[in-house]
Amino acid sequence: MALMKRFQGKVAIITASTQGIGFGIAERLGLEGASVVISSRKQKNVDEAVEKLKVRGIDALGIVCHVSNAQQRKNLIDKTIERYGKIDVIVSNAAVNPSVDNILDSQESVLDKLWEINVKASILLLKDASPHLEKGSSVVFISSIAAYQPQSSMAMYGVTKTALLGLTKALANEMAPDTRVNTVAPGFVPTHFADYITKDASVVKKEARRDDLT
Ligand code: NAP
Repeated sequence: MALMKRFQGKVAIITASTQGIGFGIAERLGLEGASVVISSRKQKNVDEAVEKLKVRGIDALGIVCHVSNAQQRKNLIDKTIERYGKIDVIVSNAAVNPSVDNILDSQESVLDKLWEINVKASILLLKDASPHLEKGSSVVFISSIAAYQPQSSMAMYGVTKTALLGLTKALANEMAPDTRVNTVAPGFVPTHFADYITKDASVVKKEARRDDLT
């Protein structure tokens, strides 16, 4: 069945988008007509992902961007504006879960990293992007089912995802009426990120049951 072209003429930036959920979002937006700007930390991954999208007839620009690197975030926005002159969609997708420790056992450096990548980098990227957002533009955060029920092996990660729910409401208010702000909270998706869960069959069963409840 042919896809609708709801994003024809639109420009979409998706962070952490050379594989997994981010790549899937870029591919779908591209198939629906968007020009997509994809990025991640490694040039090789960026180049390979751009090729995969181009083969499918998608207009894709690839830029290296570690979301916690200020210079690379600025470059992501600058290169997008240089090529396309505007931004219609930003999907803020990057996240880490560097530890399975309980919250009170977590090292300070782990807490800092969770805050920096999962929450702060999204805010700073939007600061750089906001002067270029079109009327009618859309910001989407990728949260998680763990935002609602942080499980022990991903408790502090879950709390950063809960923070994104609050950020969504606050920014929806702040960026209205020209820009909408929403969050997607996926359940379990078998990506590289979820490897540690798929390797433990009992966790998969539990996650699958929680997915049924949402
Ligand atoms: P994934 O398959 O492991 O993909 C991660 C992508 O992010 C790769 O393209 C990686 O490329 C890039 N990346 C990693 N760290 C980065 C950084 N600091 N800056 C920029 N790019 C970075 O992950 P995923 O499962 O699709 O997860 C994507 C989002 O979905 C995350 O926010 C995650 O919390 C959320 N989520 C996932 C699940 C799940 O079950 N998978 C469930 C709920 C929510 P490089 O290595 O080249 O950087």
